Amino acid sequence: MTNTLARAAARYDLGALHRELVEEHGGEVDDSVPQLAEADPNAFGIALALPDGDVRSVGNARDEFSMQSAVKPFVYALALRDNYDAVHEEVGTEPTGESFDAVLLEEDTGRPPNPMVNAGAIYTANLVEGSDARAKRERILVGLSAFAGRELRVDEGVAEAEQEKGDRNRALAYLMRSMGTLDPGVDEALEVYAAACAVLVDTEVLAVMGATLAFGGRNPRTGEQVVSRRVVTDVLSVMATCGMYDGSGRWLRRVGLPAKSGVAGGLVASVQGVAGIGVYSPPLDPVGNSVRGVRVCERLSADLGLHVFDRELDPS
Ligand code: GLU
Repeated sequence: MTNTLARAAARYDLGALHRELVEEHGGEVDDSVPQLAEADPNAFGIALALPDGDVRSVGNARDEFSMQSAVKPFVYALALRDNYDAVHEEVGTEPTGESFDAVLLEEDTGRPPNPMVNAGAIYTANLVEGSDARAKRERILVGLSAFAGRELRVDEGVAEAEQEKGDRNRALAYLMRSMGTLDPGVDEALEVYAAACAVLVDTEVLAVMGATLAFGGRNPRTGEQVVSRRVVTDVLSVMATCGMYDGSGRWLRRVGLPAKSGVAGGLVASVQGVAGIGVYSPPLDPVGNSVRGVRVCERLSADLGLHVFDRELDPS
């Protein structure tokens, strides 16, 4: 069944989908930092990474952009790889229904609600091994590069701008410190988080990263086992329930795939055993998801039958 789906994905007419959805002009480009505000609203790339490591793409699939929140599931995976029990003890896995940067912790425990909102992502980034911020940044970058199958880099300008404007993130970090949970200093914690958000990818890379999760933690291009299946199961579960900001419930019903979006316009989705999907298109809907990104995934899910709760049942 899975191979049937992968074969259908390999034949799918991405060009026709791109031509159709490029006409969709809704949404607003994020302007939280100047580098994001300058993004071209017409840039639009789609990529699929398949089980044999082949990547099919159309449009601006080689344009670079910062991962922003699309980095969160991968940082979560790397933190679980390094400190599995501590991550589960110290970070929740409940959707919030609040905005990604809500200044909000779990009422009874003081833990961040989940790793897909900023509180949880700041926290999990700092549960990646490393003696200081520089070491953690480096370890995250090496880990993300393994997911991508190519050497990634940080856009230092974006990382600095994020830290400068990051008052809400600072508030969250102080709040977590005051609860006695966040261990490193606030500046160190925010430096690691901002650098992760500022990692540059393109749509094809994003698809390969999604595929690495889709194929049990094994990068289909390089063959490297980046994280264990146990980690992948946790990450995909949390992406499915919390990955698309406070549009996550509607997303799961309509698209039915674990996914994560970021305010630069990137969106990554994983179709277990079938493909990784990457989309890039900067204009965002009111909850912060790429308008064309959502449309692409709705279409791929419907046309190929990818919804996890609407797959053809295998009679054997
Ligand atoms: N760097 C962004 C922030 O923490 C991430 C925003 C996002 O993509 O949701 O504000």
